[in-house]
Amino acid sequence: MKKHNFNAGPSILPREVIEDTAKAVLDFNGSGLSLMEISHRAKDFQPVVDEAVALFKELLQIPEGYSVLFLGGGASLEFCMVPFNFLEKKAAYLNTGTWSKKAIKEAKAFGEVIEVASSADANFSFIPKDYTIPSDADYFHITTNNTIFGTELKKDMDSPVPVIADMSSDIFSRPVDVSKYICIYGGAQKNLAPAGVTFVIVKNDALGKVSRYIPTMLNYQTHVDNGSMFNTPPVLPIYAALQTLRWIKAQGGVKEMERRAIEKADMLYSEIDRNKLFVGTAAKEDRSRMNICFVMKPEYKELEADFLKFATERGMVGIKGHRSVGGFRASCYNAMPKESVQALIDCMREFEKLH
Ligand SMILES: *Cc1c(COP(=O)(O)O)cnc(C)c1O
Repeated sequence: MKKHNFNAGPSILPREVIEDTAKAVLDFNGSGLSLMEISHRAKDFQPVVDEAVALFKELLQIPEGYSVLFLGGGASLEFCMVPFNFLEKKAAYLNTGTWSKKAIKEAKAFGEVIEVASSADANFSFIPKDYTIPSDADYFHITTNNTIFGTELKKDMDSPVPVIADMSSDIFSRPVDVSKYICIYGGAQKNLAPAGVTFVIVKNDALGKVSRYIPTMLNYQTHVDNGSMFNTPPVLPIYAALQTLRWIKAQGGVKEMERRAIEKADMLYSEIDRNKLFVGTAAKEDRSRMNICFVMKPEYKELEADFLKFATERGMVGIKGHRSVGGFRASCYNAMPKESVQALIDCMREFEKLH
C-alpha cells in the first residue's frame, strides 16, 4: 500500500533526494568511496557545501553581508547560541508555543527577557498581534511556524529592533525578506534534510557586539570564519540538503513552494471546515500551511481512535496529533504531494459517510 507521510519531523523528503543521497552513500561522485567515509575536507566535498550555501542565497535572495552556516546541535542548540551571541542586556520574545518557550528559557540565562505577548492561556491557538517591542531590546525573537500548535506567522514583520527567527518548520515554504532579520535558524529535519544539520543565516555585522566570552564552538564568528568547517560538519545531511535545494530550484523556487503550500493547505482546511465530524484548532487567520491541526467535534469525540485506525489502514502515516493539542496533525511540508493530501481528504469523507 502507498504510504502518505504526514510526519511532523523528521518528515517527508522528495523521493529524488532520498535516492540521490542513497547513491552517494554507496559511491560518492564515482570515487569508489562512500559519502560516509570521505574527509569533509576532501576536494570533492567542498563543492557540496559551496553549492548548498550558494543555493540558500539564491533561493531566499539573501542580501550581501550575510553568511549561511551548517552546524550540528539542532535548533535547540540555537536557543542558547542566539542569546550567547546577541543578548547583551535585554531581549524580547514572542511566546507562541512549545519551541518559543524553550528559546525563552535559554535566553533567561543571559540577560533580561521580555515576553512581549503570549497565547499560552488559549493553548497557543493563535498568534498574539497587539504588543509593543521594547525599543531598547537587543533583538526580538519569533518562531515563524509553531509545528506543534499549527499556527504560522506568514509575513515578515517590521520591528524597531533586529529580528531573529526560528524557521525550523517553514523555511523555503515562502519567500522571506532576509534583510529584516539578523539571524534565521532551524533544524533541517522538517523541510530540508534528514536530522543532524542546523542551518543558520546570520548577518555578519551583527556579530561581535556582546561583551562576554563566547566558547569557540558556540561563537557564530568561528563558523563564519571557517565556512562551517571548524570541526567535522554533518556531511550526509548537508549532502541531502543540497539535493533538496536543487529540487526546490528545479520545481520553480520558493514562490512555487508557496503556491503549492497554499493550495494543499486550502484543500485540507476546506475539508476540515466542511466535514461535520472535524474542527480545526488554530485561529483561521493564523493557520499554518505546514502543520494542519484538527480534532473531532465534541459530539464525535469518541470516534477519534476509530478515525486514526481507519486512516492508518488506508496508508496515512503520522497524523496523530501532538499530545499538547490532541486529535490530528497533518504536516504538509514542501515534499508532500497534493495527491497525499487528497488521499487524506478522501479518508475524512469516507469516514463521515459511515457516521
Ligand atoms: C522541531 C523544531 C525545533 C527543534 O529542533 P531540533 O533540531 O530537534 O532541536 C525547534 N523549533 C521548531 C519550530 C521546530 O519545529
